[in-house]
Amino acid sequence: MILSPQRYLVTSALPYANGPLHIGHLTGAYLPADIFVRMLRMLDKDVAFICGSDEHGAAITIRALKDNSTPQAIIDKYHALFEETFQKAGISFDIYHRTSSPLHHETAQEFFRSLYIKGQFVEEESEQYYDHEAGKFLADRYIKGTCPKCSNPDAYGDQCERCGSSLSPLELINPLSTITGTKPELKKTTHWYLPLDKYETWLRDYVENGKLDGVDHHDPAEWKSHVIGQCKSWLDGGLQPRAMTRDLDWGVDVPQEIKGSAGKKLYVWMDAPIGYVSATKQWAADNGKDWKSYWQDPESSLIHFIGKDNIVFHCLIFPAILKAHGQYNLPVNVPANQFLNLEEQKISTSRNWAIWVHEFLNENPDQTDALRYVLTKNMPEQKDAEFTWKGYQSDVNADLVGTLANFVQRVVVLTHKFCDGKVPEFDEDTPIVGTRGDDEASWHEVEMMDLFDRMWAVQDAISQYDFRAGLKAMLDIATAGNQILQFNEPWKAHKEEPETVMAVLNLCVQYLAAMSFAMHPFMPGASARLRKILALDPIVEQGSWVTTLDALSLGEKLIPEGHLLNQPEHLFSRLEDDWIQKQVAKLHEMSVTATPASDATPTVDKPNIPYDDFAKLDISTATILAAESVPKADKLLKLTLDVNGVQRTVVSGIALHYKPEELPGKHVVILANLEPRKIRGVESQGMILMAESGDGKLHFVQAASEESGLAIS
Ligand SMILES: [Zn+2]
Repeated sequence: MILSPQRYLVTSALPYANGPLHIGHLTGAYLPADIFVRMLRMLDKDVAFICGSDEHGAAITIRALKDNSTPQAIIDKYHALFEETFQKAGISFDIYHRTSSPLHHETAQEFFRSLYIKGQFVEEESEQYYDHEAGKFLADRYIKGTCPKCSNPDAYGDQCERCGSSLSPLELINPLSTITGTKPELKKTTHWYLPLDKYETWLRDYVENGKLDGVDHHDPAEWKSHVIGQCKSWLDGGLQPRAMTRDLDWGVDVPQEIKGSAGKKLYVWMDAPIGYVSATKQWAADNGKDWKSYWQDPESSLIHFIGKDNIVFHCLIFPAILKAHGQYNLPVNVPANQFLNLEEQKISTSRNWAIWVHEFLNENPDQTDALRYVLTKNMPEQKDAEFTWKGYQSDVNADLVGTLANFVQRVVVLTHKFCDGKVPEFDEDTPIVGTRGDDEASWHEVEMMDLFDRMWAVQDAISQYDFRAGLKAMLDIATAGNQILQFNEPWKAHKEEPETVMAVLNLCVQYLAAMSFAMHPFMPGASARLRKILALDPIVEQGSWVTTLDALSLGEKLIPEGHLLNQPEHLFSRLEDDWIQKQVAKLHEMSVTATPASDATPTVDKPNIPYDDFAKLDISTATILAAESVPKADKLLKLTLDVNGVQRTVVSGIALHYKPEELPGKHVVILANLEPRKIRGVESQGMILMAESGDGKLHFVQAASEESGLAIS
């Protein structure tokens, strides 16, 4: 696919500054954007790559209260952490800005003012929950209650995190203020609403048909079907007018001159996405650019990279806001990703079931490129995808070490061995097995065209947001190179057919040079290491892809004869079993420490399992023989059990519910064939089954007595 626009504004979702980033975030909105943008720059496009921290809203004030801190301290902490995380992961934003900056406050207010003056808002009085004890209106996040859709007792006023429904506080059953725990009362307040219902017709045409005002609007790559599907189901449900302001403490003030603005803040929808605009303004000011040419010139293409939880906002609500303003471009594509699961479970911040990017890269600074590779290979582009440590090991060992690094190593070692490290001269008529060369064109021209096709496949896939396919096309270059070596066996041929060896090594060096470009968007660090081995300058992104492909299309070589290569170095290291086991153990250990009771959490919304899965469980009765606390883990107990006459050790997260001395002699039920795992240095051989009562207390599941007739064996 040819990308015809010359100018791009590419954004990644603004991370919310109240917690660190995990691998699901990275592969959802940041890594794909980075790969795409690096390719755009190499294609000589004029591109601004924009992101920043989202630093307002009630969750930050709640967090500050909880941590006995201030909102400013919380956002400063996470803003710095995000910057560090992105830098370590090699995400090449042109600017990483923040919504607490004065420029952002000004920009968001100006935006709101324009819509207000144009009469785009409807002013409405409504009743909202008010906490008399705290003396304030309650933000949606300050209200908890029971979800009307799935009965989750811990749903928030804006969303149920269990079933994913977006809610309004008035829909919650038994609402309570999370500040004082009291029942809030309804009180009148005035807000400004955007009448989304009036935009339904054009929004539908825009999302489903790619048309805006009757003109084709989407970029040439089709929108992902799951993106369109989610928008359609929202549109089918009917859009409602939505308040663009809130009674909040922490955020951007509604412009003062507007009557009734006192105490009101812009809602996140009029705040966070305007952060894309203010960040662009800051970047333009710092670099002598005109920000309007990226946002308002129809020749510029706007693309949002986000995770699937942000689809409706970026495909319907933000476009509605932009169009209401009238001077802004609307996104031409929103290539949202789905979710990444971790070891077959949903990534969960609250259960600490996650791989935190900064933590992993701090401990393993040599893994940046490998992590980018594995996350791209398993990117949840069309549906949810899985990340496992076993998979990480096999992707790295098979693809990066076995195929890619192995090819580099062989070519460079052989060139040093047979050609003093210099790219060899050779006779054009020398036949090489396994290539496309024939009599009509000299072989190297044909081979350079073949490399051109391979590079084109990488570019084409990335242009269509198909990063997994692009990655595979990149690896295919190394696979093809290895085949050329395998077919011609220069290590054997060098005595009888030195001409073949020269020709093969020259060709393989050209493959390496091309690969350094193809690797760059995915693994910039590894590409730089390869360039160093090849004694080539680091890649300057702007236009470099175009120059390379132009040369290949003319049958020109990328590295001239006589060029002296450096000595080989390891591009990637093999990952051994013990390293992988350490990662797995850490994941389990940290998650157990965070919420040991999670084993007993009710599992209402998990999918059904077939009977065969259930039959695999070995559930046995057992008697507790002894119990002791576990050092440095206030929620864990180490239990010694008698299971049908055999002693076993189990570590259980029940220390907050039972004292060790209460336990000996108790009859319990255990899952006996759960894979043993080390928890705080103690091997746990099974899991005690617990049930949680309404008051949150954990109880042992008791083996029934004979008369009840229920047998658990
Ligand atoms: Zn729910």
